[in-house]
Amino acid sequence: MFKILHIETSNLYQKLISDICIEIGVEYTSCSSSKEALKILSSDDISLIVTAMEIREGNIERFIEIINKSHITVPIIVITGNDTFDDRKKMYDLGIIDYIVKKSTPEEIRDYLKSYIFKSEQYDFLATMRIAVCDDSKMDRKVTERIFRMNSITRVDFYEDPDEMFKAGRDYDIYLIDLLLKNSSGHHVIKKLRSEGCESIIIAISGIDNVKTISHVLSLGADDYITKPYNNDIFMARIRTNARSYSLYKEVKEKTVALEKMAISDGLTGLSNHMEIFRQLDVEIEKVARYGGILSLIMLDLDLFKNINDTYGHPFGDEVLKQVAQVIQDSIRNVDYAGRYGGEEFMIILPQANLESAFEVAERIRHSISALNFRTADIKITVSGGVTECDEETTKELVSRADKLLYEAKNGGRDNIRH
Ligand code: GH3
Ligand code: MG
Ligand code: MG
Repeated sequence: MFKILHIETSNLYQKLISDICIEIGVEYTSCSSSKEALKILSSDDISLIVTAMEIREGNIERFIEIINKSHITVPIIVITGNDTFDDRKKMYDLGIIDYIVKKSTPEEIRDYLKSYIFKSEQYDFLATMRIAVCDDSKMDRKVTERIFRMNSITRVDFYEDPDEMFKAGRDYDIYLIDLLLKNSSGHHVIKKLRSEGCESIIIAISGIDNVKTISHVLSLGADDYITKPYNNDIFMARIRTNARSYSLYKEVKEKTVALEKMAISDGLTGLSNHMEIFRQLDVEIEKVARYGGILSLIMLDLDLFKNINDTYGHPFGDEVLKQVAQVIQDSIRNVDYAGRYGGEEFMIILPQANLESAFEVAERIRHSISALNFRTADIKITVSGGVTECDEETTKELVSRADKLLYEAKNGGRDNIRH
């Protein structure tokens, strides 16, 4: 929930802001000194500081300096009675985001805070983004910093030279790259970022305003182009539009990755599912047919597993399946594949392994499974298996040979591997 920290020595003003907070539905906490404020900031999740110019234990300038030095990124709004141009300039230079004059009516203060909170909640996603600004003009960097601060965007790093930015090696969500740089060109920086696989938003900034430059820089991989001098509102609108598309892109990408993983994994054990392990087997058999080499296959089936479920219940059975899957995963190499073939049946593909070494792996897994201990029940789980080496046969033939061996193992008394 949005929480305002109010630093104010006057009880009257504390009551005024507290009432407004209740009315607009945000949390309110107050104190009168910089020391108390720092304590609250270190323990509470504060969204906005509203402070008077006069506070106890130190002046406001010193307080803001400490805040900036401690990397506290909570935006600060000052309420003041003395509204001179010099005061404003001094405060903005210190990094406050805005100013409320004391002669404002309670309604005006309420509307101001309400619209601030609405804006910041709506653009929450932007405030969390990391931004890099690479601009060799000190004045332009200051202007950009001011606009960002006024919009409560504080996770911004400024670079004069692109080499410093690359050296810092940080990942940013948004890059603002000036086209005319002292020792380099923005075109070069944008090209380099994209060639290194950067998928973040890259916005070119420049005083050059001709169609050819703009189209060229967009073709190099920039997402947008903003001309200087900035119009604050248009600048922020462009940043927000790009940031919104980027958030959506990231969300879709994350979901796609998760869905793709879900489509090929077994939900209980996390191993490849039936369809995926067959696809992997097809690929590996094709590789052997095309490039030569060897390939072995292990089929495993837990012994008398129905009894386990019947005696201890399905949740316990599921737990056993998970642990068995973990044993299998821990017993094979990164280049091998393990899948859940069916209920309590597992298939393991071992590229570059001959029959003997695959048999050794299967035996190792059989021993590890029988050594498993369970908290719920003092039982021993055993497994039977069949191992085959690929001999210029189809996937179906290879699997059916492994299956046959597995059933020989079952008929031979279980808890053994045939090859
Ligand atoms: P065998 O030694 O001959 O393989 O005997 P078995 O009892 O293991 O063989 P059967 O094929 O008769 O039974 C397999 C059992 O595996 C049936 C079912 O209760 C259990 N099973 C299959 N899938 C799951 C699952 O996802 N969770 C649990 N808990 N049990 C499962
Ligand atoms: Mg079984
Ligand atoms: Mg079975």
